[in-house]
Amino acid sequence: AKNTGKSCFRHYESSMHEQALERIKVENELRFALERNEFCLYFQPIISIEKNQLSGFEALIRWCHPKYGVISPEKFIPIAEETGLIVPIGTWVLEKACQQLSQWHGMGEAEKSLCMNINVSVNQFLQPSFVQIIDKMIAKYGVPPRCIRLEITESLLMKHSREAVEKLNLIKNKGVQIAIDDFGTGYSSLAYVHEFPMDQLKIDSSFIGKINERSQTLEVVKSIIMMSISLGVEVVAEGVEKDEQLDILEQLGCHKAQGYLFARPVPEKMATEYLNKLIP
Ligand code: C2E
Ligand code: CA
Ligand code: CA
Ligand code: CA
Repeated sequence: AKNTGKSCFRHYESSMHEQALERIKVENELRFALERNEFCLYFQPIISIEKNQLSGFEALIRWCHPKYGVISPEKFIPIAEETGLIVPIGTWVLEKACQQLSQWHGMGEAEKSLCMNINVSVNQFLQPSFVQIIDKMIAKYGVPPRCIRLEITESLLMKHSREAVEKLNLIKNKGVQIAIDDFGTGYSSLAYVHEFPMDQLKIDSSFIGKINERSQTLEVVKSIIMMSISLGVEVVAEGVEKDEQLDILEQLGCHKAQGYLFARPVPEKMATEYLNKLIP
């Protein structure tokens, strides 16, 4: 019994060691990924439930590694956050997303109403130069600020409340929209939420996945939607995969939906094809 204990420990130790090595490898390669042009953006449609039409896209980063293939942001965004690499990566995302939106707007009148949702990390947002970078991208690509929607998480608002709210107001005064991402997963209190300058609230997919069951989650989602409506905030359901979920959301008055039911996140070309089909 003693022996197995020991070898278990060794095994544990060596797997810890491997994990550490793996992390260092990712960290090193992440440093070069930008200059090697290994990142790309995927786009997932966001649908207006009421109008039954495409309202825009969320830009989602991918790391297309020459050896390891397409790497999910869940694998590298946390490391990018810790190392500070999120700042140049985030700037790249802002630039690419604005460039793409400007290209789509150029395709026709109807396309000009499309919005681009862009994820922003806490450390990226807190950079002193963040607002200037937004200004620069809007000017460079000539996109209307109201068509840009920055997605931030509740944790930003909770941990950096006063500074964050000031900056959010500065950004909002330019006409750029703010969305609260993954709503319901943080520790934000409902009592605070109305004080944050936001235009859109995105209900986390973990709630949407459970509303088809006759569960209390349905009541929670219903409350979030009712609260959003009474605050005058647009509400989006994330992770909509089934018709039944969409039906319930429609009945509850949810404005928009996003999820595999409509489309997965896809590369630029496929997103443009999707767009051409919906807006001929
Ligand atoms: P998120 O912002 O909550 O993005 C939604 C995630 O849910 C995406 O994962 C998307 O592919 C996935 N998803 C969409 N519809 C469905 C569905 O119907 N079912 C299921 N099961 N999943 C669905 P993805 O693209 O892997 O991104 C993961 C997370 O990585 C994002 O979560 C976001 O937090 C972060 N991320 C992605 N791109 C960026 C970026 O450019 N900058 C920053 N800072 N973070 C990013
Ligand atoms: Ca998001
Ligand atoms: Ca989300
Ligand atoms: Ca999420």
